[in-house]
Formats: sequence, structure tokens, C-alpha cells
Amino acid sequence: MGSGRSHGMSERERVTVAGVSVSVDHYVGGRRVSSPTTFEDRSPLDWSTVLAEVSAGDSDVADAAVTAATDAFEGWAALGPAGRAPHLRRLAEKIDQRVPDIAAVECVDMAMRHESLRNRVIGRGARNFRAYADLAEQHEERTWSSNGTANRVQRLPAGPVVVITPWNAPFMLATWKVAPALAAGNPVVLKPAEWSPLSASLLADLADEAGLPPGVLNVVQGIGSEVGPTLTSDPRVRRISFTGSPETARLIGASAAANIVPFTAELGGKGALVVFADSDLEAAARTAAGQYDDSGQVCLAATRLLVEESAADEFLERFGAHVDAHVLGDSHDDATTITPMIHPVHLARVEEFVERARAAGDTIVRGGRRHTPDGLWYEPTLISPVSNDSEIVQHEVFGPVLTFQTFADEDEAVALANSTAYGLSATLFTGSADRAERVGSALRAGTTWVNCFLVRDLTAPFGGLGISGLGREGGDHALEFHADLKTLQIRDDTTT
Ligand code: NAD
Repeated sequence: MGSGRSHGMSERERVTVAGVSVSVDHYVGGRRVSSPTTFEDRSPLDWSTVLAEVSAGDSDVADAAVTAATDAFEGWAALGPAGRAPHLRRLAEKIDQRVPDIAAVECVDMAMRHESLRNRVIGRGARNFRAYADLAEQHEERTWSSNGTANRVQRLPAGPVVVITPWNAPFMLATWKVAPALAAGNPVVLKPAEWSPLSASLLADLADEAGLPPGVLNVVQGIGSEVGPTLTSDPRVRRISFTGSPETARLIGASAAANIVPFTAELGGKGALVVFADSDLEAAARTAAGQYDDSGQVCLAATRLLVEESAADEFLERFGAHVDAHVLGDSHDDATTITPMIHPVHLARVEEFVERARAAGDTIVRGGRRHTPDGLWYEPTLISPVSNDSEIVQHEVFGPVLTFQTFADEDEAVALANSTAYGLSATLFTGSADRAERVGSALRAGTTWVNCFLVRDLTAPFGGLGISGLGREGGDHALEFHADLKTLQIRDDTTT
């Protein structure tokens, strides 16, 4: 690594995870920085082993990181989109070169499937940086004449940004949020989740190798409730970009409100998968069973299966066959689809959800228990609720737990689909183009897929309705969020 010196405490020895050297320290102002205390990072694949003792950030480190980002702001902003783009493209190249290493670390740290990490998910990180380098460069200021003036809308870089990310798909989600901030001219302090902190540390290495100016990307490790509030309440921070749970978003929103700082929140979901009898039932059933992939630890997962009554039996038969084909196992094995839950605390949370559903009279159709006494795997579970008001229908579980309900007609389908407080994504299967248009438009969700699932275009707006989020990421929407828009009006007869 390039400048990797430490200040404060001496730099901790790097650890080797899956054969890859990873720093357990923060990265602040282009240097590795230790904290006096650490937190343990373990692998969901083997909970008995400590992967790393990671520096636990405190208010000193948070302050140093925001100072570094503030100091870097003027120079980074002054480069303009064309000056910043080569930095971002070099970082993308570094990511591409290290996909196998990042995938290896992420697989052990978060236990996402290695096959999807190495073939799709990590590479998307490089694409995020390239896409935002392109988008920022291609942006043209809006200009027009009115009232005897020439008008221009300028996008001014806003200032230091705090990016806070969750433990699922941590590398992809971090790059998705860091890339537009940097492209827009804003230095970043990234706080990854404490349950999967390692790939963010690799991102800091790569930023260093790519020659990003010191302070443009900083990484602060630590427990969210300890280091997070210092970061989000610092008045020098001009944007907060958060992905995680609604509970944490409320706390961060209060910090943002205190400083009058815009923030985006990408939060949980409780997506419906609406299946009409006229649809390709095989494709619908396969997609439904696919919601158990990575044990349902996916915000976009369609966890409420809503099926037209007349197709329910056939759908369930086909669905059952696909669920039977799932393979619960080690995330390194390409055959595995059901990976372990991230953490014993999260596994217990999932178990409690199902136990409460059982106690409330909901029917556990299949699964409903942990797989082994010692591992963190939970069986793919299907629940038929007593009512649409059941907790298991109305609240995000974030595990391999789906609910099954039927509907009689379109109106009931839409009413059920739109009946939760969430609105991140919805999925619809139908063979009718009219219905695709009609019901697709009626489903209240930031993204609605019809006869497909998880197809994403990076330029499309992305975000949630209701308690699924605030603001939009994706394409120009993220660049706009990270800019202070300014209208410059010059009277037509102004002469030099
Ligand atoms: P979480 O809210 O517990 O934690 C998210 C991040 O916030 C972590 O980095 C954590 O350390 C930090 N944090 C915790 N308390 C904080 C505080 N007081 N101040 C500042 N930061 C704090 O969420 P999680 O359990 O890590 O993630 C799972 C949730 O994220 C689920 O609800 C899931 O649906 C959601 N999610 C949403 C999307 C999306 O794009 N909409 C994507 C992935 C995950």
C-alpha cells in the first residue's frame, strides 16, 4: 500500500483473511489510524473463529476523518468533473484487478455466495465508479433566457459527506454511495457496518493505490451507536447518505435536521410478489423460491407471495419443487444457495419473528427452525398468516422467511400489495400487457418489476416509498443530491 502510515496509536498489524491482507485500522487523510479499543469480527461460516480485531472508532477518529474530508474539499471540488473522472476510473480499474481478493474476503466476512460475489456483485463496484465518472462529465448545465437575463443552473459540490452502510452486500453498497459523492466533488467519510467491516478497508487500500488525494476517501470503522452520532452530528458534514434500517434512519434524520443537512435513506423492504393466474407460473414460482437466496438478507427481496386463488395449488407445487432444490451450505460452494445468517443476534431475531408468528396462530407451511444447533443457517420458511395484519406480513424479517396469501381479483391484489408501511420494491407476474401496465402502475414501490426481478439500470432512480426510504439514488438523482444547485442570472446587457 502507498502512504499507509499511522498516527495516534501505532498501526495494528494487518490480518490475513482468505489469503488476502486486510488492514484492521481506519483510513484517515491518506493514512492508517488505530484506535485504542477494538471490536471482534467473526465469519458467519465459522462463528468460533475471530477473523479480525478491528479498530473501534471513537469521537477523536470521527473528528479527524471529518477534518481530513473538510481539508480535502476545496482541492477535490476545484478539479471539476473532468479532473475527478480519471481518479474514479483508476479506482475502478484497481477494483477490477482485485475482484477475486475482494470476493474472497467478502465471502468469509459476510457469507454472501462466492459465485455471485466474483461474477457480479464486486464488479458492480467498479461499474459504479465508471458510471458516475461518465455521468458527472456528461452533465450539461441547464441554460435559458428569460426576463432579460441569461439563466444557468450550476451544480456546486456541497462539502464533506458521511456515508453509512449496512452489513449486507457491503462492498457493492458502499461503492454505490461513495461513487456519486466523489464524482460530484464531495470528499467522503465512509462508516461500514461492524458485522462486515473488511471490504471497506480493501476499498481504502485501492483508493490509496489509485492515488486519490489524501482525505478524499476516509474510512472509519466502529460500532454504529458509538461512532455514528459523532459523524452525523458534525456541522461540517454537508450531506449524509445512509443505507440501513428505519430505526437507525430516524436517529440519523434527527442529526441531519439539527444541522439542516440533506440526507438520503435507503431502508428496509417488505416487497410483494404478485402472481396472476395468466402468468408464466413456472417463472413466477422460480422467482419466488429465489427469494431465499443468500437467506433473504436482501432489502429488495419479495417476501410476500400474493397469488391469484385459481392458480394457488399449481403455484405452490412448482414453488415447492424449486425450494426443495435449494442447497444449504458453505458460501464458497457454487451449489449453495442458502447461506448462513450474518450474526447470532440476527439469527435469534429471525427465530423470534417465526416463534411469534407461530404463537399468534399463523401456519408454518415449511421450515420454521434453525438448521443445525451450532451453525447460523435457518431453514427456508413459508408462513400462511391468519390475517394480513399479522406481524410476519407487516414487518421486515430480513431472513429466509416468506409469507403466502391468495387474492380473488386485481383490486384485492393491489390492496394487499400496498398494505404495509414499506415501499421499496414490488414484483408482478402476469401474461397480460394491459394488466402489466395497470397493476404495475398501481403498486406503490420505488421500483416495480413486471415478469422479471432485480434487473437494474444504474441511471434509473432508486429508493423507497413510506418507511423504505427518503430521497433517490441512481444516475443523475444521486449527483443532484450531492450538489448545491445554484441559479446564476446575468442581465443580458451586462458588458465586459
Ligand atoms: P442498521 O440500521 O442497524 O445499521 C446500518 C449502519 O448504521 C451500520 O453501519 C451501523 O453501524 C450504523 N449505525 C447504527 N446506529 C447508528 C447511529 N446511531 N448513528 C449512525 N450510524 C449508526 O442496519 P443493518 O442491520 O446493518 O442493515 C439491515 C437493514 O438495511 C435492513 O433493514 C435492510 O433492508 C436495509 N437495507 C436497505 C437497502 C436499500 O438499498 N434500501 C440495502 C441494504 C440493506
